[in-house]
Amino acid sequence: MTHDLTRWSAARMADALARREISAVELTQAHLDRIAAVDGAVHSYLHVDGEGALAQAQAVDDARGRDEDLHVMAGVPIAVKDVIATSGLPTTCGSRILAGWVPPYDATLVTKLKAAGMPILGKTNMDEFAMGSSTEHSAYGPSRNPWDLERIPGGSGGGSSSVLASFQAPLAIGTDTGGSIRQPAAVTGTVGTKPTYGGVSRYGLVALASSLDQAGPCARTVLDTALLHAVIGGYDPRDSTSIHAPVPEVVRAAQRADVTGMRIGVVKQLTGEGYQPGVQARFEESVQLLVDAGASVVEVDCPNFRFALAAYYLILPSEASSNLARFDAMRYGLRVLPDGVEDPSAEQVMAATREVGFGAEVKRRIILGTYALSSGYYDAYYGQAQKVRRLIADDFSRAFEVADVLVSPTAPTTAFKIGEKLDDPLAMYLNDVATIPANLAGIPGMSLPSGVADEDGLPTGFQILAPATQDQRLYAVGSALERELASRWGGHLLDRVPELATTGAEVTK
Ligand code: GLN
Repeated sequence: MTHDLTRWSAARMADALARREISAVELTQAHLDRIAAVDGAVHSYLHVDGEGALAQAQAVDDARGRDEDLHVMAGVPIAVKDVIATSGLPTTCGSRILAGWVPPYDATLVTKLKAAGMPILGKTNMDEFAMGSSTEHSAYGPSRNPWDLERIPGGSGGGSSSVLASFQAPLAIGTDTGGSIRQPAAVTGTVGTKPTYGGVSRYGLVALASSLDQAGPCARTVLDTALLHAVIGGYDPRDSTSIHAPVPEVVRAAQRADVTGMRIGVVKQLTGEGYQPGVQARFEESVQLLVDAGASVVEVDCPNFRFALAAYYLILPSEASSNLARFDAMRYGLRVLPDGVEDPSAEQVMAATREVGFGAEVKRRIILGTYALSSGYYDAYYGQAQKVRRLIADDFSRAFEVADVLVSPTAPTTAFKIGEKLDDPLAMYLNDVATIPANLAGIPGMSLPSGVADEDGLPTGFQILAPATQDQRLYAVGSALERELASRWGGHLLDRVPELATTGAEVTK
């Protein structure tokens, strides 16, 4: 019985809690049991907070016992990516440099989860400082894809995707700077949304690239994703780029799932050549299903997208090199004294700490960013990349004149093997080719499963993009496609995830 609970959708959990058919403590305990049984193999979590989660669940059950008015999601547990500050719980960003750091405050979105009564099960693994597409850059070892434990669960938010596909949490929070919510969703058969830039507060997110970073919801169904989006979204005076408007009507759009008369734009530059045949085939079938459901299709041309990857890999390292300067051995976490130096200067301590504390990918990007921002090169690199960013936003504006949403495969391939791309940064960066344009333009995007590729039986992702502040369109289209696909599959795609050996191995705490 308890094992079955973990397979329910979050919507069903919320409903059963409201009807008092299950208790929040029972539901949270079922997930903690599941974590104890399988996370030794999957490694989704960096920290599990069983005691804290059960206390939050008990508080919800007590409040329900007193007939208090509760949030619809009260008692539904959640996992939070380790780049998000949680007071009293370690927040490492997958980095050695933040080992042992416990934030004294909650990110705004965490405050909202707590206010809604959602027990926080723990913090999920990620590539160090959210740089990567596989979680292999985590200082604490990679997470694994529940579909095949030899494969990557995507990145940087591979902890938040694998946690869902292995039923260790019904919901998770991710962050998406260049695709770290959408690409992990694509390769694990789960759903994830990058909201419009400014739609979810960045207060309390450890910054990677501030003009691109966006936190968002991850789940196993489109409706669950919408329910979480509604909890965490909205204006926050503590985030200067927060949008001063109500959260888009994402839940209603997901429930209606209506695409009648909608114009779907297939982005020419993000399909076809370079995409794995099985990924491309599932994409084309999905577009046809949307047409059958009442939408129309146009092809749209976004010629400047070919520069997106290059622009992103200048803008991101530039902003990251500046943001990561705060890890100076004085303020947070690790401090390393240089070997054999008597009376070391602050600079020497800083250098020794950053040498030990940062991994290779983080160092690579700091060096790249520092170079791109240096005087004499600023205009040629950073300045030029910002101009490309404008051209990409213009491509989107033109495309949205003829289409209500744009679609593409989310990632060019299915999940690759652990180790396959680790020594080839460019091959790793290419995973982001379809997701990056949305971050550069600040528009919302979603990935949902479109099936499995014939050649390897692994999940494929379908990406939907909408104009800024029109996030509800993602949910209307995503939900309609999910319904059409479910009737074809006769169930949920994740029913096909092989049963994980429940080793009872020690959970990484
Ligand atoms: N894979 C991308 C990168 O390495 C995306 C990162 C992200 O969205 N946080 O930069």
